[in-house]
Amino acid sequence: MTDDTRLVPPPRELDLASHAFFLDFDGTLAPIVDHPDAVKLAPETAELVQRLADACDGGVAIVTGRALASVRPHLGPLSLVVSGSHGHEIHWPDGPETEAAQAAELDAAFAALDGFASDRGLRIERKPGAVALHYRNAEHHGADARAAVEAAVAGDPDLRAIHGNMVSEAALARAGKGVAVRELLKSAPFRSKTPIMVGDDVTDEDGFRAAADLGGFGLRIGRASTDAAYQVETMDDFFGWLDGLLPPADGKSGSGQEH
Ligand SMILES: [Mg+2]
Repeated sequence: MTDDTRLVPPPRELDLASHAFFLDFDGTLAPIVDHPDAVKLAPETAELVQRLADACDGGVAIVTGRALASVRPHLGPLSLVVSGSHGHEIHWPDGPETEAAQAAELDAAFAALDGFASDRGLRIERKPGAVALHYRNAEHHGADARAAVEAAVAGDPDLRAIHGNMVSEAALARAGKGVAVRELLKSAPFRSKTPIMVGDDVTDEDGFRAAADLGGFGLRIGRASTDAAYQVETMDDFFGWLDGLLPPADGKSGSGQEH
């Protein structure tokens, strides 16, 4: 783990055509908001990510803990591969609009956590590959929520607890952002490219390690202890880095995002 007070900027030059980018959504491409449905991807961010995708021959995927159904409506004009529910779901831009079934392994955990959530007024979300307890608006319940999720997965080898920023999840043990990165790299347009995972949360650490194992690296946004090789302070720092790697946008002398 790197020291959480020392930021390590990523390389200023990169052969983009030989790299694939796996990008978390909340806190990485869009600011974190109180209710997940209120999230907004800024048009200039969408444009930046599109330029990146063009430079990488399409090798850019969104890898999020959100269910596919709760991220795809927020992507605006972006037509990218999206992995949802921590790698449990994958949508290809020209693929069918199917939604993964809710995993039956999560039934008991959902039943246990549903009562816990309603007693405390917490929002519970059943995703195809996880049950999430959200406590962004009730931070004082965070420790209890984490403990309840740990209890709900205890003794079940099919499940594991994932604790993120203001959310704790009972998730399928076989899912994870590292799994998503490895799975996507098996297919075009990602195959034989060097992976770069970018994220802002504990749930992205899996992806950072997978990217490093496969010859690439992780980039973590925000000051926190991390296994990512590189770390920047804010989303804008990340956008500035990307912008510096990219050829100028069409018809402009620069995109105006340089720092
Ligand atoms: Mg995030």
